Amino acid sequence: MQTIRNVTEMQQWSHQQHQAGHKIAFVPTMGALHAGHISLITYAHQHADKVVVSIFVNPLQFDNPEDLKKYPRGAEQDLLACEAEGVDVVFMPTVEEMYPDGYQTNVQVKEITQPLCGAARAGHFDGVATVVLKLFNMVQANCAVFGEKDFQQLAMIRRMVMDLNLPLEIIPHPIVREPDGLALSSRNQRLSETERQQALVLWKSIQQIQQKFADGERDVETLLAEAHAVFQTEPEVSLDYLEIRDATSLTSIDHITGPALLAMAAFVGSVRLIDNCVLSAR
Ligand code: AMP
Repeated sequence: MQTIRNVTEMQQWSHQQHQAGHKIAFVPTMGALHAGHISLITYAHQHADKVVVSIFVNPLQFDNPEDLKKYPRGAEQDLLACEAEGVDVVFMPTVEEMYPDGYQTNVQVKEITQPLCGAARAGHFDGVATVVLKLFNMVQANCAVFGEKDFQQLAMIRRMVMDLNLPLEIIPHPIVREPDGLALSSRNQRLSETERQQALVLWKSIQQIQQKFADGERDVETLLAEAHAVFQTEPEVSLDYLEIRDATSLTSIDHITGPALLAMAAFVGSVRLIDNCVLSAR
């Protein structure tokens, strides 16, 4: 496994692989790798013969400096995990390499980034779109794997790839959960034991809505009221948003007629967690 920190070196490596007829799959991450990331890497191996993982904590996408400072980091362990997973290249650019002096370009995907996490985190999705487009240009992969855990991010990236005719395939991967249902997240490391238990309310509310949906309920207000009732059982957890929207456009809906996204963000102590599921009759 190679570790590359330099953009030109990364591009040269990819160029050589393409010349040799290899297909490259790319998994962008912010490190502090857990079983969710590993699952994306395993999936990437199924789609190409070379796998590149990037590890870059992107300052541009943090609206809160404290959150950036506290974001878990563990390069040594991450490298060992990548090596064990047969990753070909770990690309770890520095902040200076990514945003050198004089940098002034910003990528903005419009409507799809407005609701949900976009409403709560000013500038977050511009930061993500910008870094992901830059990483795509650096890694030059044939496909990239993204987790449905960050559903709005995935929807935005799909939109950007279509809008800008980017020559790569976006491959979604389902959410990986702990046995008790908590979605894996690098941020879970920051939860105390009590908070870890409280955090289960996100999954409980999803299960409750999934059950009501399976029973035939399609009215968004009624379904959301069910989820709010579940959150009331855990008053220490404070909801940031809880919404049901069209799963493709992320526009708001009153009644579910096609695939719908149930998405939520909540603060458990000072840790902001997100979770979601797609409600689909098929
Ligand atoms: P992050 O390091 O949080 O930026 O995440 C890197 C990639 O891993 C993104 O595509 C995430 O959606 C994905 N990811 C993070 N957690 C999970 C999870 N629990 N299940 C599936 N994918 C995940």
